[in-house]
Amino acid sequence: MTSDPGILYVVATPIGNLADMTPRAIEVLKSVALVAAEDTRHSARLTQHFGISTPLMALHDHNERDRSAALVSRLSAGESIALISDAGTPLISDPGYALVHAVRGAGLQVVPVPGACAFVAALSAAGLPTDRFVFEGFLPAKTQGRQSRLTELKDEARTLIFYEAPHRLLDCLEDMRTVLGEGREVVLARELTKTFETIRALPLEAMCAWVREDTNQQRGECVLLVRGVEAEAEALPAEARRVMDILLEEMSTSAAAKLGARLTGEKKNRLYDYALAKEGK
Ligand code: SAM
Repeated sequence: MTSDPGILYVVATPIGNLADMTPRAIEVLKSVALVAAEDTRHSARLTQHFGISTPLMALHDHNERDRSAALVSRLSAGESIALISDAGTPLISDPGYALVHAVRGAGLQVVPVPGACAFVAALSAAGLPTDRFVFEGFLPAKTQGRQSRLTELKDEARTLIFYEAPHRLLDCLEDMRTVLGEGREVVLARELTKTFETIRALPLEAMCAWVREDTNQQRGECVLLVRGVEAEAEALPAEARRVMDILLEEMSTSAAAKLGARLTGEKKNRLYDYALAKEGK
């Protein structure tokens, strides 16, 4: 008698806060024959924490292609397997693509077990347009490559999302300022779900200055989100919005637009439109 083939579960794990582990993720990790993990030592801490004793196997960028065939055989023989990465959703700037491709190519079932993902968390709280966006993952590590990639994205209308390593954050922001312009709005979403979670929106010039001066901002994990050009053209500069937000708490829309125009140098009508949009009119 041949058994039914197993299932490959692609399981999201927390991006910092263990309370974000889903009950379904725990249940699946306990139920499978094997957990393929990017870094078994790192993941052992997670599985121990949740009382999961399923064996772990290393599956990373360097061995993924080689190991995929063996894992497909185990699935075909009826064993179910879970794939996890160090944090968040596997395959999102993480290993797993070769395995999922091979498993689906073999006609076997792949089931996602959704949960945390750093860029989705960042986008959901950044205050930038979310209807259309581009996830770019990591930019090239060196200035020349980074600037040329940013040049290709300069006129992109959709919200741009990047992952960045903390030690490259300032260089990356400075390249963004050079290529995209000092006034382009950027959101730094740092240490999401953790104690020092910070989400701040500033024009690139001000963001560079803040991150340079406050070196704490150069620590921990971060996502950068950049306003797309069309949205940028429609948006008031951050300082004008700040002034208007304060004025609107104190006076009528038309009075705020009038005084705001004197304070910021922006056109009264633009400020008036901003106030109406903010009030949802
Ligand atoms: N698979 C993960 C996901 O679903 O988000 C991403 C893995 S990628 C190797 C790691 C990058 O994700 C970090 O360099 C950082 O840019 C981002 N990241 C992960 N955790 C984060 C957090 N708690 N706060 C902000 N960014 C985070």
